[in-house]
Amino acid sequence: MVNSLLLINVGQLLTLCAPSAETGPRRGPALRDLGIIRGGAVLCLGGKIVSVGKSKEALRDPWLKRNRKSVTEIDCAGKVVLPGFIDSHTHPVFVGPRLVDFEKRIAGASYPEIAAAGGGIRSSLEAVRKTAKSILATKVLNALQKMAAHGSTTVEAKSGYGLTVESELKSLEAIKDAASRWPGTVVSTLLGAHVVPKEFQGCSQKYVEIVCKEMIPVAAKRKLARFVDVFCDRGAFTAKETEEIFAAAEKHGLSVRAHMGQLSETGLRPFLRFHPASFDHMDHVNEDDIPHLATHDTVATLVPGANYFLGLKEYPNARRLIEAGVPVALATDYNPGTSPTISMPMAMSLACTHMKMAPEEAIAAATINGAWALRVAERKGSIEPGKDADLAIFAVEDYREIPYWFGANHCAMTVLNGVVAPKP
Ligand SMILES: [Zn+2]
Repeated sequence: MVNSLLLINVGQLLTLCAPSAETGPRRGPALRDLGIIRGGAVLCLGGKIVSVGKSKEALRDPWLKRNRKSVTEIDCAGKVVLPGFIDSHTHPVFVGPRLVDFEKRIAGASYPEIAAAGGGIRSSLEAVRKTAKSILATKVLNALQKMAAHGSTTVEAKSGYGLTVESELKSLEAIKDAASRWPGTVVSTLLGAHVVPKEFQGCSQKYVEIVCKEMIPVAAKRKLARFVDVFCDRGAFTAKETEEIFAAAEKHGLSVRAHMGQLSETGLRPFLRFHPASFDHMDHVNEDDIPHLATHDTVATLVPGANYFLGLKEYPNARRLIEAGVPVALATDYNPGTSPTISMPMAMSLACTHMKMAPEEAIAAATINGAWALRVAERKGSIEPGKDADLAIFAVEDYREIPYWFGANHCAMTVLNGVVAPKP
């Protein structure tokens, strides 16, 4: 008998089913449509969702009548069930927290000042370079388990704290190893172009060549990454270098995404020909680019955890993007320097309070649009027959409580590809 699971009497079942036959990421008013069923039920078999509807109707199903005794039943009365969160931007391959950066920032130093003083991304490199793959894998697995405990079922995981061919591949292998021991879904990204390592300071072109001619071909050949990411910003990589790296990724069959507009504005239009899955951060966006983004499926992934942790007053202009029809997703940006949180509900809470996103919009951005940002929407991001059985069960009566009770975890249970996550 395949593993079977019935969630029944669900107080609010947020299906996130498409409000129309239109495909593509949710935009504008469609971002508020959660497809709610009260008194809902979800039946999952062999890791897939097979039926979704009202509890009463589910119990009349002939298959269920015959097999009910062998089905694991979970009573979700008074609870909210929604698609597991898709955390589409994380940097989990690091060794330790960056407490010196934390203190310096509290004392008033800026992000570029910390980087110039030897802190920032570069300070995580040495530890990753000398740490064994198995230890890195354990760190990644721990993070994935904590993420699942807070409702995430699909996680994008980037390398990017090694910045040598050897240590970037080691980081991707650590992600692969952790993913094989976790019931959820991991999407790997090569972020060899995170910053220019200090060995290449002043000759960044040489480093870009290593990314393009060594890291990307090997990662593609060994199927260690689905995406290539670039940190395109002041102090990191230029627009021209980003295009070069995107072209190399395309040549080797990898899709692209980029950190864009965190510290400064970069014109986005030249990149659209590479069909990036997402542009992430987007604190600084040129007004003229917005109508172009609205006609593409490239998702603007907002990561307010970074703004919060950096103590910034400004947040990305989510309202402007949503109202213009740009598809918006939310992610944690889990990393040791600027966003040490594994909690999607925290990111959603910040989206509501600081970016004035409605709770409905935050939920759609954390589920279905996250799935679009990772190009897994055909099997993830909503609760509909045929999709993977990825579910988050929250011990709250109203979905708006998920972003409301910030700083506490109300996720009661997570189902990842049909498997109930053990409590870490
Ligand atoms: Zn990032």
